[in-house]
Amino acid sequence: MATLLLTHADCIEHETPEGHPERPDRLRALNQIFQSDHFNSLIAEEAPLGSIDSIAKAHPRDYISMIEGRRPDEGIEALDPDTWMSPKSLDAALRAVGAGIRATEAVLEGDVDNAFCSIRPPGHHAEANRAMGFCLFNSVAVAAHHARDEYGLERVAVVDFDVHHGNGTQDIFWSDPDLYYGSTHQMPLFPGTGNKSETGEGNIFNAPLSAGDGGEQFREAVDSVIVPSLDAFSPQLLIISAGFDAHQRDPLASLNLTEEDFAWVTLKLMDVASTHCEGRIVSMLEGGYDLQGLSASCGTHIQVLMHGGYLED
Ligand SMILES: [Zn+2]
Repeated sequence: MATLLLTHADCIEHETPEGHPERPDRLRALNQIFQSDHFNSLIAEEAPLGSIDSIAKAHPRDYISMIEGRRPDEGIEALDPDTWMSPKSLDAALRAVGAGIRATEAVLEGDVDNAFCSIRPPGHHAEANRAMGFCLFNSVAVAAHHARDEYGLERVAVVDFDVHHGNGTQDIFWSDPDLYYGSTHQMPLFPGTGNKSETGEGNIFNAPLSAGDGGEQFREAVDSVIVPSLDAFSPQLLIISAGFDAHQRDPLASLNLTEEDFAWVTLKLMDVASTHCEGRIVSMLEGGYDLQGLSASCGTHIQVLMHGGYLED
């Protein structure tokens, strides 16, 4: 299988305050593991800048202008207590969006089997009209709209296994039955959304987990909620909001997943994608704040995308 890796140095230049969990070292840690022989066969490309027109498929233009206008010339500026911009943050967010667009094109044109975008800031908390939860633009939602508008796809799915609910993706997809959103996440936890009762037009599938839950409960949720609803939806492209903060080492939440659980869910999603859409998967980094947990679980996720399995170090 051919797996594309998209990243860009600008994504490391997005600065947050000292002690903020969403920090440049996250991508430095991932860049470190990409040096290992396990990742030799990745096809690496620099993420292009996403265009404002492409972002406007998921966000109103006055929202995009507001974000552009908040970019500081120096120092860092708070959009809310969690969400910050530094002079390079706009470029980083445009690279994140551009990575998803390029990944979508490469997968849909058959240049590669699947793709992983190693990017920050993350995107799944960004609602159509609101930056929050470290997120400026909703990169997975932009990629889904791009696949639909530019390639004529009728059904695109986003599956989100970040420990936090992707309120932003849910918000953008809410009234659009041709866009599927399925999420496992801890509840109660930031951002507070993600109840089973939130179903949109019958296209939203939330499978909340409780603090302390581990692999057994996670796999049960995926098997009972995510996989059957995905099978019924029959996506033509599967996008993953790949957050690794449900890892047992993560400081922001209290689930107890391990690398094996991330390998398992990746294989499950590859099975679904091979049934419905010739295996076409675009995976985009969201959270994951313990560097060791992030490196191990994200590395495993990418190895499974590359090989359909993974090697222990
Ligand atoms: Zn998260």
